[in-house]
Amino acid sequence: MKILNDINQNLNSYDDSFESFDTEKLKTSIDNVDDFQFNVEPSAWKRPLKWSNVIILSILHIAAIVCYVDVSITLFHLETVVFSVLIGAMSGIATSAGSHRLWSHRSYKARWPLKLWFLIFQAITMNGSALTYARDHRTHHKYSDTEGDPKNPTRGLFYSHIGWWLVKKTDSVKQAGRKLDFSDLYEDKLVYFQHKYYIPIFIVFGVILPTIIPVIFWNERPWIAFSVCVVLRIFLILHHLFTVNSLAHYFGYRPYDFRIRPADHRIVNYISFGEGIHNYHHVFPFDYRINDRPQWELFNPPINFIHLCSRIGLAYDLRIASPEVVKGTVARKGDRALYDPIRSLKFRILNAIFDWIIGILTALWIIYPALFYKLATQPIIYI
Ligand SMILES: [Zn+2]
Ligand SMILES: [Zn+2]
Repeated sequence: MKILNDINQNLNSYDDSFESFDTEKLKTSIDNVDDFQFNVEPSAWKRPLKWSNVIILSILHIAAIVCYVDVSITLFHLETVVFSVLIGAMSGIATSAGSHRLWSHRSYKARWPLKLWFLIFQAITMNGSALTYARDHRTHHKYSDTEGDPKNPTRGLFYSHIGWWLVKKTDSVKQAGRKLDFSDLYEDKLVYFQHKYYIPIFIVFGVILPTIIPVIFWNERPWIAFSVCVVLRIFLILHHLFTVNSLAHYFGYRPYDFRIRPADHRIVNYISFGEGIHNYHHVFPFDYRINDRPQWELFNPPINFIHLCSRIGLAYDLRIASPEVVKGTVARKGDRALYDPIRSLKFRILNAIFDWIIGILTALWIIYPALFYKLATQPIIYI
């Protein structure tokens, strides 16, 4: 329990005083902080390891290998895989549409039933609470690709992907975090409740329920239910979410601002579940769409979920960058040659069909090796 608690509380902490925070004190301290120079530490790997995270991530990866081999050679119910994909997709949407676009960037507003839905599904990713995610993410945007960035991609692909979880935060990152105002997150009662009770929420909704639902409703074996719906689901979704910090800062095009590192890339967009238009996102972080196309045109499940919630009144005040502002920004600091020209409607529809089919197929990459192995070696694939 102590180790699990560290994932949420200790991993992302900038300052222990946040845990017993005082909004007024916090605002005053932010106002009083002068501009500072980051101390450049030559290697983040010389920092003390965060042993709790090293142990829990090692267990997760070893368990994922064991579980994957096991489900590749044994039979399971098809419903178990469908159920795992559904809750995994919902947890990815909850992280992207909830802790990212709603709480990190305030790009729209949500009513409490939607917040509750997001907080439950976001908790099952084992990616820390929505509050710690938003705290890290705001720091990432404000000090992107510098010593103040918790995921600092200039330290290498591995560091920005998962390495930053394995070492204690640098003094520069803590210093950067203290300069930002997170009081709105602490004042949101639901968000703070999820942060405070993250571990029990994760265990109930992320481990116990995904294991017992397949056992009760379609008579799955407990070990297979745990393997597919807990271990492999967490492993896959975590790495998909990590690509936003790693691959999205390495590969792709920079049509909106060529001077910054974040880039747009289709493959990254598929893997990260609609977060891969990252050059646009860093230039217009307040835009809930994370691209400037209609919601059907690019693979982006969270935007469609937000639209659905908006239609039934659960999401409102959706913020976007106007086309004039986007075009003006591209003209000023972007690369016009890389900015999509106006295409015919026929081209856009065909492109959208292609993008959604390839996007869904790419996001499910983990299934294929096991499927091909079963096709090659077994007369039946599932029961
Ligand atoms: Zn980024
Ligand atoms: Zn962001």
